[in-house]
Amino acid sequence: MAAYVDELRAALGERVRTEDFERFAYGADWSPRTPKEVFPPDVVILPRETEDVRKAVEIALRHGVPVTAGGGLTGMAGGAVPIHGGIYIDATSMNRIIEVDAANQTVRAQGGATMQEILDALEPHGLWIPNLPESKWSCTVASEIACDNDSTFGMRWGKILNALLSVEVVTGRAEVVEFGHRKAHFSSSGYKVKDLFAGSEGTLGVITAATLKAEPVADGRSVDMILFPSMTRAVGYLDRLLKAGLAIDGAHINCKRRLRFYTHAYKEKHGHEPEVPDWAEALLAIILSGDRKVLDFNKKYAFKIASEMGGQPVKERDIVESWWISKHTLAFEPYKQKWPKSQTDKKFGACDPGVPMGRLEEFYRAFVATAEKHQLQILGMNAYLEHPNSIGFSCSCALFVNYRDQGEVDRFRRYFEELSRIAVDMGGTMSTYMGDTDLRVPYLEYEHGSAVAYFRELKKVFDPKGIMNPGKKLRWEGEGKCGAGAAGAGSVGGGAPAPGGDGAAGGGGR
Ligand SMILES: Cc1cc2nc3c(=O)[nH]c(=O)nc-3n(C[C@H](O)[C@H](O)[C@H](O)COP(=O)(O)OP(=O)(O)OC[C@H]3O[C@@H](n4cnc5c(N)ncnc54)[C@H](O)[C@@H]3O)c2cc1C
Repeated sequence: MAAYVDELRAALGERVRTEDFERFAYGADWSPRTPKEVFPPDVVILPRETEDVRKAVEIALRHGVPVTAGGGLTGMAGGAVPIHGGIYIDATSMNRIIEVDAANQTVRAQGGATMQEILDALEPHGLWIPNLPESKWSCTVASEIACDNDSTFGMRWGKILNALLSVEVVTGRAEVVEFGHRKAHFSSSGYKVKDLFAGSEGTLGVITAATLKAEPVADGRSVDMILFPSMTRAVGYLDRLLKAGLAIDGAHINCKRRLRFYTHAYKEKHGHEPEVPDWAEALLAIILSGDRKVLDFNKKYAFKIASEMGGQPVKERDIVESWWISKHTLAFEPYKQKWPKSQTDKKFGACDPGVPMGRLEEFYRAFVATAEKHQLQILGMNAYLEHPNSIGFSCSCALFVNYRDQGEVDRFRRYFEELSRIAVDMGGTMSTYMGDTDLRVPYLEYEHGSAVAYFRELKKVFDPKGIMNPGKKLRWEGEGKCGAGAAGAGSVGGGAPAPGGDGAAGGGGR
């Protein structure tokens, strides 16, 4: 047993786990990967307090051991998979709600609290957090920040930065630092370093607590679907609603195929898929909220504009309910709800680019063509609007991938890279909710060019020895040194070799 493991035990006692069955559960997330590509950590720790995390990082720093923090492991691109072994911090054991300040409409929680646990704590105060992924029952607040997730309600409240007041972090220097303000809702003082943690993917430090701005719960909410002959028309419609002054909580444009991902409840009830007219190429789901009178007025107004623009509201409420149940309301049972029976041997595999307004339809065609080129089974595309009160797309371009077939998984990764590059060519971005992980490391410069050199310098400030989630987001010279004093893959019970086979940072072979 490596010396650092003994030190971890001395510091954290039984909250250090090294048995195979305790480690293997942490070797994969929801990303398509073959069983050969499961990378269990050498050691798992279950911290309760920030100080536990600090001690673990301090030991890791001294021994040059990689540290990967994770939450519910529902990430879709391998962000929390410890590809270089080392210490895995299961942050879900730190899930206390520290404070609800109802008067100031803020909530502070430990990093491992799930978004649903935070919602539950806010409910008695008539407050909620609207920055919510579908996976809110599993997704922790630290992961929500670390991935910069999409939200069901992004069109009004945006992404997590719109709510993030402060983060407490154990940096790669083994120091505990609070960035931001716990009580002030905004500030022009100091640098906005807290913002760097949105999308940081655990590469700058471990998020041990966060303070979020909460919002008052509205009296009413409506969820509707409107059919449009094209995605472009659906986008034009949303633009009209914004110009009319309507506040739209959420808007999601589904292609026809993608709707099927969300219709489990409908099929259970009716025994068949919902019927969608042939002419309808885009299904816009739209969420509004407010006092009853305001809501009724807004809804009527929204429908009036829809009919002027050739949109047709979906009358069959079961279709809408089925989408909403799967999207937001039911407990997180994704296999049960979403997986067609014929697909139990396949995994959901998505690519998450963002494209400029006006290019959605063109990008959809590129998605279909790229998937077909690589002979992958298309599930469909969904464009979430994620910029508050404006039009900004996050595209979830989804496939079913046979994770037992290395050839298919490799083809999926080529599709992932090509589609990422196409989005950049269109003036968009490679990622809107999954992050770069190790998958996009080899072509990060394609989007960011010379800015990547600055990313590296920033990383050094927080993580001078490159121990924090190495191989993710960046390839940089310091990383090769990480792991020099580590137990190394396999030394505590047989871990898997580093991806790419050469132990080099970045897993460049993908
Ligand atoms: C059915 C389903 C629906 C989903 N719906 C959505 C959706 O609507 N919107 C969306 O954006 N995503 C969605 N996702 C993707 C995924 O759930 C989110 O990306 C979520 O953030 C992952 O949370 P997690 O706790 O499972 O994170 P993990 O997979 O455990 O980790 C994700 C990343 O966060 C980092 N991290 C975790 N904890 C810490 C910490 N304490 N400090 C620093 N870094 C940390 C990890 O290192 C990793 O890089 C969905 C996934 C599934 C399976």
